[in-house]
Amino acid sequence: MKYRLRPQEAARDYAAELNPEQYAAVTTTARHALVIAGAGSGKTRTLTYRVAWLLEQGVPPWRILLLTFTNKAAREMLERVEQLTGTAPGMLWGGTFHSIANRLLRRHAERLGYRPGFSIQDSDDQRALMRALVKQHHGKTAKNDRFPKAEVILSLHSLAVNTGQDWQDVLDSDYRHLSRYADTLEAIYRDYRARKQEQNAMDFDDLLTNLLRLLQEHADIRAELQERFAHVLVDEYQDTNLPQEKIIALLAGGIGSSLMVVGDDAQSIYSWRGADVRHILNFRDHYPQAEVYRITTNYRSVPAILNISNAAIALNADRIQKDLQPARESNRMLPAVIPAPDNRTEARFIAQRIDELMAGGIPGKDIAILYRAHYHSTDVQMELSRNHIPYRITSGLRFFEQAHVKDVVAFLRLLCNPGDEIAFRRIVSTFPRVGEATAGKMWASWREIAMAYLLAHPDADRILAPHSEVFAKAAVPAAVRPHWAAFLSLMDSLHPEEKELLPAELVAAVHAYLEPWMRTAYENYDEREEDLHQLARTVGEEENLESFLAQVALLSEVDQSSIAPDDDCVTLSTIHQAKGLEWKVVFLIFLGEGLFPHRRAMDSGNPTDMEEEVRLFYVALTRAQDQLYLSFPRYNGRSYDSQFCPPSRFLTSLPSDLMELWEVG
Ligand code: ATP
Ligand code: MG
Repeated sequence: MKYRLRPQEAARDYAAELNPEQYAAVTTTARHALVIAGAGSGKTRTLTYRVAWLLEQGVPPWRILLLTFTNKAAREMLERVEQLTGTAPGMLWGGTFHSIANRLLRRHAERLGYRPGFSIQDSDDQRALMRALVKQHHGKTAKNDRFPKAEVILSLHSLAVNTGQDWQDVLDSDYRHLSRYADTLEAIYRDYRARKQEQNAMDFDDLLTNLLRLLQEHADIRAELQERFAHVLVDEYQDTNLPQEKIIALLAGGIGSSLMVVGDDAQSIYSWRGADVRHILNFRDHYPQAEVYRITTNYRSVPAILNISNAAIALNADRIQKDLQPARESNRMLPAVIPAPDNRTEARFIAQRIDELMAGGIPGKDIAILYRAHYHSTDVQMELSRNHIPYRITSGLRFFEQAHVKDVVAFLRLLCNPGDEIAFRRIVSTFPRVGEATAGKMWASWREIAMAYLLAHPDADRILAPHSEVFAKAAVPAAVRPHWAAFLSLMDSLHPEEKELLPAELVAAVHAYLEPWMRTAYENYDEREEDLHQLARTVGEEENLESFLAQVALLSEVDQSSIAPDDDCVTLSTIHQAKGLEWKVVFLIFLGEGLFPHRRAMDSGNPTDMEEEVRLFYVALTRAQDQLYLSFPRYNGRSYDSQFCPPSRFLTSLPSDLMELWEVG
């Protein structure tokens, strides 16, 4: 007999908080389900309720995998689940593809030939390595030489990886102008892969492709994970690339596991990174039995904002018709169009308007300024600072990418992984009289000793004896000796044999060691010092150094929301990074031809580029709940080289009765 216990709390009334389509999706028993609907229709809400529902059905949290666009999105969804269910879904697996891949690879990377404790290279590390390789293979760049920059070589490689092509095919299709360098590129890519492997390091693309390899090549691990993840849920499915799509299929491939993906083809904006909208459009080719749910109501925006959004996406002729109906009432305000005489005036308008809104009771956290490219935000940043309006930037230099933060982190990385060449070079470059060549020689010597140590101690993944002993005989030029000795003794103190130091203590020790050098190396040391204190506060929350370092490397561009979230801060973000988010008030700036749409898309001659700009515009408009301001500078720059800037075609091609003109002056 089966004895049923009563639920401890009254079950939630899901039907009352969801519309019928959302409810059907949340409670579905279908193995495969797709929710495809326009912006603000509650797709993310559906996934969140689905998690709560599964937990209430008794699914253990660790059998649920929730893949989101940012780690922050995953955290917020789980907080919401906690509110819904009253219990913390503690052990649930939630985060970006990269962070989940990292967690899984930490356990299994040895099966792929990595040593334990691999490090993660962020884009800065990748550039440094690539620059070194270009120098090595191509020599000093001659005048008029068109040899591609490190960034370009990396993008080509990354696009190939993320679209599952050979790099030569991408060269032929997208980078034909570089074909004459094919042989050199071949050698560079070969070395690039070898050097990463040798350094026991993975870049972001490696995290995905290695997870995929792990699942494809190791049946036992695949079986274990398929057994574990009974329910796989994916947000923003329209922006998955090929490795991600394959990973999802494999992880959700267990007998009886379920897969739910949600997304909107009209918001696919990452094709330049290899995302492929066909994954969502052709979902049923892969999963023929899939249930498909469509939502036609928009819950986010007032009708006037929804009207302009619907009109904007209609600029793309070739699309699935799915205009949304508003659930909200009108607030009687039309989206405002603001032609400003120049960029400074545009910025002044925005600062003044934000000031008024905040004085009227709208907190900064409900206001966002969005733009096509990070540099468009410069004037606004200056003007906000001038007006003492606090803001946080989710584009541009992120906290952990700042030089002084990376300096400190380099020591910790080397401590964890003595094979981390980039960290080592960064450290020795803080010594006086150490240039690239000397650093290279020192590295060769360090590496030899470190490798010999690790061979002699097969159980160790780092140097466990005092560094001053192990590296006593390293080849170091006489002039550098004193600094070398100080560095080794610092490393000794970071790794005392008696007890492991806490990450926060490690940061403080390295900071103290670096302080004299930093005071001379950086002009605004005092501000930077604040960052380092903040760093110590942040790592204080991490239990061990390895997880902290993985965390640092994984704070992807979209994810570097300031460490201390501040409710009063206005958000500045590129549109790409604003995906999935919403604010009461949105300012969309720099809406001039060539700025947005981007000149590159206008000139490319490929209509799909312009279509992606339209989708990006649609994403921007649909972030707004109550108020929307669309502005552009007639002149960009005030000096002799100022550019005349006609209004964006996006503004001029929309019916003018959908917006109201605001003359500023
Ligand atoms: P995007 O395409 O931008 O990612 P989305 O489809 O994921 O949007 P959500 O962010 O889930 O939409 O929802 C938009 C807003 O509408 C949220 O504030 C959400 O709480 C609200 N909402 C969604 N569905 C409902 C509903 N049935 N009742 C009330 N509010 C809802
Ligand atoms: Mg969403």
